[in-house]
Amino acid sequence: MGCTAEDVAAALRAAAETVAEHKSELTDLDRPIGDGDHGENMHRGFTALTASLAEAVPETPGAVLKLAATTLISKVGGAAGPLYGTALLRAATALGQEQELDAAAVKKALRAGLDGVVARGKAEVGDATMVDALAPAVEAADRVDADDVAEVLAAAADAADEGANSTTPLVARKGRASYLGERSVGHLDPGARSTALLLRTFAEAAR
Ligand code: ADP
Ligand code: MG
Ligand code: MG
Repeated sequence: MGCTAEDVAAALRAAAETVAEHKSELTDLDRPIGDGDHGENMHRGFTALTASLAEAVPETPGAVLKLAATTLISKVGGAAGPLYGTALLRAATALGQEQELDAAAVKKALRAGLDGVVARGKAEVGDATMVDALAPAVEAADRVDADDVAEVLAAAADAADEGANSTTPLVARKGRASYLGERSVGHLDPGARSTALLLRTFAEAAR
């Protein structure tokens, strides 16, 4: 059995809780290398998304992701809003009218999301951004053979954790942190951390 629109909505509600729990952590990560607003930005967006989902859950998984995309684009702001929004919009488009998502659909959505972030932000792996969490997550998801959404997302979440942690020793080459040059070394990228948190939440929701 695959993930329905209702399952996707539940995963996004869980993500909103995770973001609320980690709001200060994300903002603290953004303070030394950015402008100290990543937790607030994400929290504002996911709070609005929870409110929209409480009014009505769209009928397909893709339509739910599209609602998430437009809500995050309009509410998160900063760099992360358009990047996460584009990821979700591309994922939604990749899913089309599919009613239930199997492992292959989830892999396809993750890949489309990564392509969207890269198209929008032009970051490569090693630039110390959310791409450092998302790109290895997509690769790890693709390596899972089983037709098991939870397994695919668990592999993605594990790789995203490792990828996020890999940003600490890097010189940031995109976004605000890049303005610091070498002084960005030694700091975990906030967007990579939020990506890892979101994927972990989706993996747990799929179990
Ligand atoms: P802002 O920097 O505008 O205040 P946020 O603090 O909400 O926005 O988000 C910052 C995060 O956005 C960074 O930690 C990084 O992961 C991500 N980011 C910024 N620029 C890019 C980019 N060009 N490509 C990918 N991710 C980026
Ligand atoms: Mg910021
Ligand atoms: Mg900002």
